[in-house]
Amino acid sequence: MRTTSQLRSLWSPACSVPLTTLTLHSGARISVAKAAGEAFRAIDAVMQAADYAPRSADTGAFCCRKITGGSGYSLHAYGIAADYNWNSNPFRSDGRLVTDMPSRMVDAIVGIRTKGGQPVFRWGGAFTSVKDAMHFEVVASRTELQRGIDWSTVRMTKPDPKKPKTWPVLQLNDTGPTVQRLQKRLAKLGFDPGTIDGHFGADTRRAVREFQKSRALDVDGTVGLQTWTALLTDQPPTPDEKSPVKRDRRPDADPGKLPILERGDEGRFVERVQQALNRHGFDPGAIDGSFGEDTERAVLAFQKKQRLDRDGVVGERTWKALLANPKPT
Ligand SMILES: [Zn+2]
Repeated sequence: MRTTSQLRSLWSPACSVPLTTLTLHSGARISVAKAAGEAFRAIDAVMQAADYAPRSADTGAFCCRKITGGSGYSLHAYGIAADYNWNSNPFRSDGRLVTDMPSRMVDAIVGIRTKGGQPVFRWGGAFTSVKDAMHFEVVASRTELQRGIDWSTVRMTKPDPKKPKTWPVLQLNDTGPTVQRLQKRLAKLGFDPGTIDGHFGADTRRAVREFQKSRALDVDGTVGLQTWTALLTDQPPTPDEKSPVKRDRRPDADPGKLPILERGDEGRFVERVQQALNRHGFDPGAIDGSFGEDTERAVLAFQKKQRLDRDGVVGERTWKALLANPKPT
């Protein structure tokens, strides 16, 4: 398999690549190298077959920036990498994989071949040191891709409709033990679902919506696959849990809202801010969940560029700008 530096030289120069913009099946748009357009359409065909929808708020591809945690250019700067749904597929420097991508779908994407039989993609969730679950990158050369994608290798086995899903879609007025399980989970994560009685009422829906909003999911009050995955992989903000990263303090007071963050704060929301800064092309230093000098400097630079109040504090407006798609420059 080619290394990142081999891919850099195959696709050089960085940041000045002819681009094409693809509209994905979900309506989200990404810009990628023209030569890799067909390859990324093949990913989208697999995602569509898997019923996996990239969100426009946290999906993107071309970005002229350096690699996360390194000094060379990211493959995003060559238009040969794309990040899908980064809020539910976070970059983790601790090597822990957090993803809502079904493994069958990932396997199918990694199985895509060119007409010459060359592998086309690898997945960041399979990296050994860090986990970058949002990330797919091209491993083929321009010349290999010129031969075209072998569309017979772009396939996704449909799930058996007779086989019940482990986690059913839940919505208002549903009842039963799975609803109760949902309510317990919401309560554990700090969202008040009302009485834990197995009835999906207005209180439970409000808690679901607050949870979805806090995790940048589609806010529809319905618990589908992505919300279930986020609920089940999220860590509750309990202080007794052993963790190298201190839990956020403020979100506990009002868990439905994104916390206001500033220098000295720590936790997974800080990590999210750092990831977002990186994505927008600002260097927050190490993505370690610790809001230090480097992160503050990056926030200030980001606020300046976005014409926000330059106070170095991540409040509602800065959060909103951070969670939006970076504009390709
Ligand atoms: Zn990426």
